[in-house]
Amino acid sequence: DLLARKAKSLITPIVVTNPEAFSIVRRAQDHETGVGGFLMELTPIGGAAVAETGEGAEIVREVVVPLAHGIHARPAARIAEAARRFAAEVALVAVNRRASAKSPVGVMSLAIRLHDRITVAASGPDAQDAVTAIAELIESGMGERAGEVAAHPVVEAAPVVIASAEPAEPGVLRGVLAAPGLAIGQAVRLVAEEIAVVEAGSGASAELAALEDALCVVQARIEASAANGDAARKAILGAHLAFLDDPELTAAARRLIGEGKSAGFAWRRAVGGYVEALRGLGDRRLAERVDDLIDLERQVLRALAGEEETARALPAGAILLADELLPSQLMGVDPGQTAGFATARGGPTSHVAILAAAMGLPALVAVGEGVLDIADGTALILDAEGGKLRVAPDAEALAQAQSAIAVRHEARAAAKAAAHQESRTACGTRIEVFANVGSEKDALAAVANGAEGSGLLRTEFLFLERETPPDEDEQARQYQAVASALEGRPLIVRTLDVGGDKAAPYLPIPAEENPALGLRGVRVSLWRPHLLKTQIRAILRVAPLGQCRIMVPMVGSLSELRAVRAVLDEARREMGITQAVELGVMIETPAAAVTADLIAAEADFLSVGTNDLTQYVLAMDRGNPELAARIDALHPAVLRMIDQTCRGAARHGRWVGVCGGLASDLAAVPVLLGLGVTELSATAAIVPEVKARVRGLELAACRALAAKTLDQASPEAVRDLIKSFGV
Ligand code: PEP
Ligand code: MG
Repeated sequence: DLLARKAKSLITPIVVTNPEAFSIVRRAQDHETGVGGFLMELTPIGGAAVAETGEGAEIVREVVVPLAHGIHARPAARIAEAARRFAAEVALVAVNRRASAKSPVGVMSLAIRLHDRITVAASGPDAQDAVTAIAELIESGMGERAGEVAAHPVVEAAPVVIASAEPAEPGVLRGVLAAPGLAIGQAVRLVAEEIAVVEAGSGASAELAALEDALCVVQARIEASAANGDAARKAILGAHLAFLDDPELTAAARRLIGEGKSAGFAWRRAVGGYVEALRGLGDRRLAERVDDLIDLERQVLRALAGEEETARALPAGAILLADELLPSQLMGVDPGQTAGFATARGGPTSHVAILAAAMGLPALVAVGEGVLDIADGTALILDAEGGKLRVAPDAEALAQAQSAIAVRHEARAAAKAAAHQESRTACGTRIEVFANVGSEKDALAAVANGAEGSGLLRTEFLFLERETPPDEDEQARQYQAVASALEGRPLIVRTLDVGGDKAAPYLPIPAEENPALGLRGVRVSLWRPHLLKTQIRAILRVAPLGQCRIMVPMVGSLSELRAVRAVLDEARREMGITQAVELGVMIETPAAAVTADLIAAEADFLSVGTNDLTQYVLAMDRGNPELAARIDALHPAVLRMIDQTCRGAARHGRWVGVCGGLASDLAAVPVLLGLGVTELSATAAIVPEVKARVRGLELAACRALAAKTLDQASPEAVRDLIKSFGV
């Protein structure tokens, strides 16, 4: 009361108005102070070494980065977004370099890679919560764990194809595949216009206001573009928005304006600093993110000049040629007029490559300077998979390309038109073609593409990135939504496949040397049986009973199936369910494949998870980009495992499906059918073509082919054999 009546104010906020430039590393808290007493200590952000901090002032936690591609643009944006929810100063420290976690560009410039050990450090009122949240976000892998990346593909850029050593053909430029397809069109050169900026500003407040306005304009444009885009476009634009909002980037520009520079000059210089930093890191993926920064530089400079982003009018069948293409340039073109693009530089995993794949545009990158010498209007054939850009082709080459395009087009259109027919081989054998799903939305897409059910519901979507596991009611609701979207078609629900590399905070699995060989799949379910019981009860609640079958991942031995069946029987008893519920096993380990006869004696069906089976048979990490070109499920060793699985199942009259990636590989379809597989669960988009392929096959011929594949020495030989089979 004495204070309240006598003091000028009861609360005296002390505000650091430029938190982007300084962080509070130590503060006096919860004790009396007097005039001149110590309040807080500030340190500049972005210093070269970890700041000296007072005892206990900074909360730190070490994490090991599980993201397959390290912390590149998108994860950096997510970290910054999460960090900004806290008042605390949050930083990431990697090998003595430190960056504000609220700055995506700063985080990226640390060039953090898979398995790097980094420190999350925070100081401030909610430092503990901030450190926990950011550390757990990183540890969760953000959907990009090594191993998970291949398992749950979004729209990914095409695999790297190194320009082959074939001799140069006249009139043909060679490049690197960025997005697949074949197109005929005419050259349209996109020359990035130089945007001039004056160095001197006309007053700091006017320049600051101009920069703010321009940033707002660009932000609004990007948000509008993201609103009607697909998932790939949204993710890329999300990263752009995060850059735009980057406190370090904008602070650097503001500082320069404060020194008398114009808004344009300041923005260009601020962006340029980071462009240099990223280019200098020697990391290909991060260097490719330079495109995104240059794109933002250009967009903001244009907004400062008051220019609208107007789409350039293109002739029909335009094949865009540029030194490099920026994401916003590609998003700005009329997709109806564009047939593809080829760039002199650029990388196959750049954002434009991902966008091109999502837009269905064939694209080549790293074609070289020659691409810039092609005159506007020149006829071109862009063969992305072949890595070739044919300039001014003769009539014969044009005719060949035209007929190849027509064949592809017709095949796809015919497959689409017949997508809803029941799937049977030419000889009349019923082969179920299903789709893998991870949500209700996926299930709707599956049905629209003619899937006859779902051979794999990955239930992890419900369990990851949350603090507590979903309860029975929530699970039952979600499974019901997926089942209803399938309109009565069969739904195979896989029990939880987390653990080891797919961490959930409520499952305190100890750190493992080899997560792929650790506690995962059914091992986790049996380690925490109450979770399994809840999940099984939720599945049993889905109506109509029987639409859902249950499938167990990562089984290594029969005893695991028996343990799960015991839980299933207990749940049925509790719920008064007398009807039998099908319980199947995923064949993902060599152990399960070679003992398939034993497992099939008690499992109602088997489904081969070729992604994991291949990784374990070939001893190749499925998430290792260095091995990506060699980890081929058509390896004869994997095919022999599938053969053994089918033989084991046949002894007990059980059916075998494939729900791994091999079911989506059209070349593999005749081999799988020949080995005895009768259900294929593919990605929804390819279902029409899988059904079309099945329709064209005779089982006897498939069996003869499959038998031969088992005797080949390499996956390449298997693929050659399949080609000679006429598929
Ligand atoms: C597999 O391993 O083939 C599979 C289908 O499971 P996931 O990809 O989810 O590990
Ligand atoms: Mg698997």
